[in-house]
Amino acid sequence: MGKNHIIAIDGYSSTGKSTLAKKLANELNFIYIDTGAMYRAVTYYALKNHLISDRHFDKDELIRLLDDIVIEFKKNPETGHADVYLNGKNIEKDIRQMEVSNFVSHIAEVPEVRKKLVAEQRKIAQNKSVVMDGRDIGSVVFPNADLKLFMTASPEIRAQRRFDEMKRKGMEVNFDEVFQNVKKRDKIDTEREDSPLIKTDDAIEIDNDSLNEQEVFDWVMKQVRKKNIISGQS
Ligand code: C5P
Repeated sequence: MGKNHIIAIDGYSSTGKSTLAKKLANELNFIYIDTGAMYRAVTYYALKNHLISDRHFDKDELIRLLDDIVIEFKKNPETGHADVYLNGKNIEKDIRQMEVSNFVSHIAEVPEVRKKLVAEQRKIAQNKSVVMDGRDIGSVVFPNADLKLFMTASPEIRAQRRFDEMKRKGMEVNFDEVFQNVKKRDKIDTEREDSPLIKTDDAIEIDNDSLNEQEVFDWVMKQVRKKNIISGQS
């Protein structure tokens, strides 16, 4: 058995992290882990249990209930990608709704939530080669990752990308709402006390405004080869 590899992809929302991560995982035969989906799953749980709204956030009750939250990933044979499950229910579609996006960064500020999810992320990656995307992967979850990427793009382009994606999925959306959400999440994610989004010194920055999807992928594959990261077998 060869060494297991970790590729960490961090960056602002809608910078193309998950598109790149999925392509890399496919190419290298690694497991892809979408950590944003885990924070979204906790947010969905908080919404369903009336723990968070525009007017209140019952943080203590959420912390008390954290052990009841079971998050799993299971492969969807139709898409070939893993869907996220909350306590046995597939919530892949539900967590992409605006309502979840509007609250997720507040949930992600809670240190107890982060502690639980970081432990689970490390556990999922145990003895495996993985591509993991999020906000704190290279800084906190896997500071020794073999390759760290930090993705950026202008807020307008990111909002447009997210808006187009939601439209394609047939969701009711308003561009300005998406744009405001992207900017609000950037602010909370970079300014929070626990594990803020930062570019670590050893991360390679990729500006997605100037490169298309294929160019980004080809460029990253060059870095993968430079670092001697080799395909996994599964
Ligand atoms: O990646 P995605 O946009 O789905 O992430 C949703 C939110 O989850 C982010 O805006 C951030 O608040 C939180 N998050 C985080 N740490 C991660 C992944 C996501 O705080 N590793």
